[in-house]
Amino acid sequence: MIVLMIEIDTNKYKKLLENELKIVTDELKSVGHINPSNPADWEANPPKDKEDDADENITADNIEAYEDNSAILKELEIRFNEIKVALQKITDNKYGICEKCGKQIEIERLDANPAAVTCIADMKH
Ligand SMILES: [Zn+2]
Repeated sequence: MIVLMIEIDTNKYKKLLENELKIVTDELKSVGHINPSNPADWEANPPKDKEDDADENITADNIEAYEDNSAILKELEIRFNEIKVALQKITDNKYGICEKCGKQIEIERLDANPAAVTCIADMKH
């Protein structure tokens, strides 16, 4: 059984996480959309064309824009999932426990990143 040294204000972090989740979700919507066949999956939007679908040649610019969207989407999806995991931990009363060593994560680390799942000593792994 882990004894917490400091009481973590989970309500505060829950609010921070929920706010960030909203922002990340909005950003996800700006570069992608939810996969219709898998609601847990996001797909990058194809580059915004000039409504000129007659030309089926994909230009290098378009490919680049699509790859940019994909890269941004991937980053956002990772963040989205981290926040989801952290919120789940709050629900499960496991929030703020380092996944590597089982110790309490430093408050300053949680303040810097409310979705952190490792303590400062373990964050470099
Ligand atoms: Zn640790």
